[in-house]
This record gives sequence, C-alpha cells and structure tokens, in this order.
Amino acid sequence: MMSSMLVVGSTAFDTLHNALGTHRRVLGGSAVYASLCGSFFAQPKLVGVVGRDFPDEVVESLRQRRIDLGGLEVAPGDTFHWEGRYSDDLTSRETLKTELNVFADFRPKIPDDFRDAPFVMLGNIDPELQLSVLDQVDRPKLVVADTMNFWIDSKLPELKKLLRRIDVLVINEEEARQLAQRHHIKHVAQTLLGLGPRHVIIKQGEYGAMLFVDEADAFNAPAYPLDEVRDPTGAGDSFAGGFLGSLCTASDVNTESMRSAVVAGSVMASFCVEGIGPERLFRLTSEEIKARTERFRELVRFG
Ligand code: AMP
Repeated sequence: MMSSMLVVGSTAFDTLHNALGTHRRVLGGSAVYASLCGSFFAQPKLVGVVGRDFPDEVVESLRQRRIDLGGLEVAPGDTFHWEGRYSDDLTSRETLKTELNVFADFRPKIPDDFRDAPFVMLGNIDPELQLSVLDQVDRPKLVVADTMNFWIDSKLPELKKLLRRIDVLVINEEEARQLAQRHHIKHVAQTLLGLGPRHVIIKQGEYGAMLFVDEADAFNAPAYPLDEVRDPTGAGDSFAGGFLGSLCTASDVNTESMRSAVVAGSVMASFCVEGIGPERLFRLTSEEIKARTERFRELVRFG
C-alpha cells in the first residue's frame, strides 16, 4: 500500500502574466502543486479551502490523480486568488494581487482519518496555522515546512516556534538569508539548522537546490536543463511534493533517501515549469519521471 502524505496549504486560482501572454483562472496554490507531484509516489491527503466558485471538474481532475480530498473545505465566498507578473527571462516575479477571499478565515481542520499520516507537508501559510496542524496530528515520521518573506517579516516568533517542531525546512535562498541574517550559504544553513530542523533545503531557482544536514553533510542537485521553460509558478511546491513523495517510498529516512528525494524534487519541479500552471503535471506519466531521473543521474555523474 502507498504511504500517505498530509499536505496543507493554499488552493488557488492564479492570474499569470508572462512573455507568452496573460493566463487567467489557472489552478494553483501550494497544496495543489505539492499534492499533484506527491501523487506520483504516495497518496496525498489534501487539507485546504476553496470557495463556491471552485468547479466540480477541477475537483474531479484532482481526484483522478488519486488525491484524497476529504480535507478540502468548501466555504461561502471565492477561492483564493493570486496574480503575478514574471520578467521576460522568468527569473523574477512581482505580485500584483493577493485576494485571500475564503483563505482569510482558513483554520485547517485535519479529518480524523488523516491524523496518522506518517509524512506531513506544511505548505507556505501562516506559521500559527502550520503549528495548529502539528497539534492535530499523531506523531508523524517526518514534517517538512515551507515559508516565505511575508511570515519572516510579520510572524517571526511563531515561525521560530515552528522551526523547533519540524524535521525539514525548505526555503528560497533569498528568504533563507533573510531569516538567518547571514549571506554565505554555509553560514545561512548552519544558522537555520541551529533554529531546530534537522535538515535544511535551500532552493536556488534555476540553479537547483542544496540540502544541508550538518556541517559535514551537504548535497547539491542542479535544476534540470530544459529546452523551454514556460511558467515557474509552483516550482517550489512541486519540489516539496516530489521530495516528500519520494521519502514516502523509502524504507528509511537516511542520507541516501534524502539525496534521492532532493533529486525527485528537482525532477518534479522541472516538469512543473514546462507548462502554464499545473497543466504539465496533469499529463505527466511515471515513465517520464523515471526517464528524466535517469537523465538526471547522467547529468551529475562523476568519474
Ligand atoms: P511557488 O511558485 O512555488 O512559490 O508557488 C506559487 C503558488 O503559491 C501560486 O499558485 C499561488 O497561488 C500561491 N501563493 C501565492 N501567494 C501566496 C500566499 N501569500 N499564501 C499562500 N499561497 C500563495
């Protein structure tokens, strides 16, 4: 039987502006990307909220990916909406709108049959809510959390409390520097490890991701070089979903399975960015994942 992974985060409609045009009502949100990517390895159990405007067909398309939606609340109002504009080279983005809508009052309620999930992904939401999820689950084997500058600025004490209760922090390089108040990546990692998590993964966008366990143990996975990148939205959440999904398939959480999981995360992020929104993830096959993982092995092979 597949291991289950609890995924808590945002469920959104995004408006995306990039060199290819404007894309409206694109399905998004951290929980959606992480669950879709996790679904190739494990059984995701999604906890989130959508508004009454959220179409049944979309719910059905997620169900078809074998995502358990028993924790998806439908609230009166509209679904969370995020609008962003990417630079033409796709290396930076600007948030134009964040309309919280039903997400404003979101208090994650973990259904009884989700509480024993051995693996937990806390997508980027208010650290107080991330903490409330941990209060509702039975001793998981591994907890991964993501965060962002907004919470570092506004909820630092709560975020620090959270860091003492998680196993893996996944964070962007820029935000990692902000949180650690240091610059050099190794110093940043040491400072963040000192705040609680046993593992820190620093995402470096188009340059890949680096895993730090302790001073002596670091691992680097490049970003897979693609022919074409269409839309980086969700790459970070796809990374986290693939990473945790891969760990769900491992017999043990150790250095080797952690390293494989970082590669799985990079592979899933590489598929994510090939399409607008999550479209590529909906038409992805396990064979394609396997083939790209093999090419990845070749990419980093050393004599
Ligand atoms: P990523 O590109 O991995 O950072 O994730 C992009 C996704 O995050 C989009 O689909 C957005 O809907 C979602 N998002 C943007 N801002 C927020 C926010 N403040 N809280 C939760 N999710 C957000």
